[in-house]
Amino acid sequence: MCGIVGFVGRKRAKECVLSGLYALEYRGYDSAGITLKIGDGYETVKCAGRVSALDERLRGVGSDASVAIGHTRWATHGEPSERNAHPHESKSVILVHNGIIDNFLSLRASLAEDGYSFKSETDTEAIVHLIDREYAKTKDARLAIQSAASMLVGSFALAILFCDRPSEIWAVRRNNPLICAVGAEGSYLASDIPALLPYSREVLRPHDDEILCLTEEKITLYQKDGTEGALSFETVAWDYEMAKKDGFEHFLIKEINEEPEAVSRTARGITEGGLPDFSGIGMSGELLASFDSVSVIACGSAYHAGIVGRMLIERLAGIPVFVTLASEYRYDPPITAGNTLVVPISQSGETADTLAALKLAKERGAHSLGIINTVGSAIARESEFVLYTNAGPEISVATTKGYTTQVASMYLLAIALAHAKGRLTGGEAREMCELIRTEVPRAIRSIIDRRAEIRALAEEIKSAKDLYYIGRGSDYAACLESALKLKEVSYIHTEAYAAGELKHGTLSLITEGVPVIALACDKKYHDKMIGNIREVRARGGFVILLAGEDLEAPSEYAERVFILPTLEGIFMPFASVVFSQLLAYEVAYILGCDIDCPRNLAKSVTVE
Ligand code: GLU
Repeated sequence: MCGIVGFVGRKRAKECVLSGLYALEYRGYDSAGITLKIGDGYETVKCAGRVSALDERLRGVGSDASVAIGHTRWATHGEPSERNAHPHESKSVILVHNGIIDNFLSLRASLAEDGYSFKSETDTEAIVHLIDREYAKTKDARLAIQSAASMLVGSFALAILFCDRPSEIWAVRRNNPLICAVGAEGSYLASDIPALLPYSREVLRPHDDEILCLTEEKITLYQKDGTEGALSFETVAWDYEMAKKDGFEHFLIKEINEEPEAVSRTARGITEGGLPDFSGIGMSGELLASFDSVSVIACGSAYHAGIVGRMLIERLAGIPVFVTLASEYRYDPPITAGNTLVVPISQSGETADTLAALKLAKERGAHSLGIINTVGSAIARESEFVLYTNAGPEISVATTKGYTTQVASMYLLAIALAHAKGRLTGGEAREMCELIRTEVPRAIRSIIDRRAEIRALAEEIKSAKDLYYIGRGSDYAACLESALKLKEVSYIHTEAYAAGELKHGTLSLITEGVPVIALACDKKYHDKMIGNIREVRARGGFVILLAGEDLEAPSEYAERVFILPTLEGIFMPFASVVFSQLLAYEVAYILGCDIDCPRNLAKSVTVE
């Protein structure tokens, strides 16, 4: 996820694009770049680091440029560096890109055969050469973009310059945002509203695969069939702060809303023909088949993602999985025998304990596969192989989409290991990947759509001093993350217990009215969970029951019931945790907590 900006007009193109890039830095800021039309030619300036570093480099350059496109990057393919920063260029085309091209490897191969050479590691460079190749055939910009877009699999928003069309910027999008506006001084495009607010409140949102041509005077929109379409502008009512959050009040709720697409993107990033394909990140099927154990090292929510993943890897691939807190591992690593795959999990890729633990594991000779969100981060660089979660930047300190995409990655690893070991057929593996790509996102969306019900439950628990989550198996793993979410954002003391453990101590804490959220999502444990719920109610506990549609007569067992969309048992944590994220948000909202920046916490824990 990144920010793109473009301006074509009378003057001030550099100023306009730079201010737009500053306004979009919340979308990613690991490197930045700009192309300016100066005199008869184009000048591209890029650098690693934030927009301010680019601004510095642009001192005295191109102040009178009338056309410019710019980019602030959140790397997905290739480390954050000057070489990989956008804009990228081919013989007659220069462009900036927001998104991910899933089939970039095969496109690169075909373009290399046609004589194109690549300067960066990005997926984007395949697009610019592809458009160049198509443009060489007809010199028709619209046709070239249309034909290139038909060969792209994935998501993109592009701002494109054709070197022989100096007064135009072309644009197209699919599955990624792009908006345009016409102002007093020219035409503008950007990934998001904050970049355009100083210039116009009337914005145009093209649909997927519509192609736009921006000039100083006007915007022309071409529909999918090539005919010109009418322009329909909408008026933006948001202020700058709200616009950064896509109209949501907090980043936490914005990021929960991004989870369906983020999980689907995680799956798309590592599947080829519907199957998990780790060869693209350097892990052959033989290597995957050779592991006889997995050792996960992580902290906080990432540790909980490891615990969920453990169950699926053990069940599908039939090998033991050890999940260890990185802060423990670095001083007391568990003894593992045979060929162990060490899996550090970290959203930021900078977690100090996880990095130290990984270094130790490597000294002991283990292979390592990092599950990381931030490309080029310290843990990504230190890991032998990296599976990027592709969640996009996460700004809320309490993780949501960071966690669910880590769980999705662990599931994809489980499927890949099981397939490589011959324990899953291609058909079975494909079916499970498809579930993560489509059904899980659908289930998450349907829970998000029931926010009002969750808010009503939040009202009922907002005054609790203590709260308990209970569950068994994968439900217990989901309880761990659910409890962390509630306590970190609402400050209500919340603990997770394996339901079978209650009688070994915790029941003494259950008194009249103490809320207990019971997860009975995995059918395998229905009877046992009903028994545990009865124990809680007998002591006066106020039970909120979370279950799939397959639990009969749920309202007999609890004061409140929330029925989740039914996925196969092991996939239910996706649903139950998203419910808990929303519940935590609503409680914190009602209590007036500082939701995006809970007290005493930091987003990326780079100290021990
Ligand atoms: N996939 C492109 C890259 O890694 C664009 C990433 C983005 O949207 O920020 O450069």
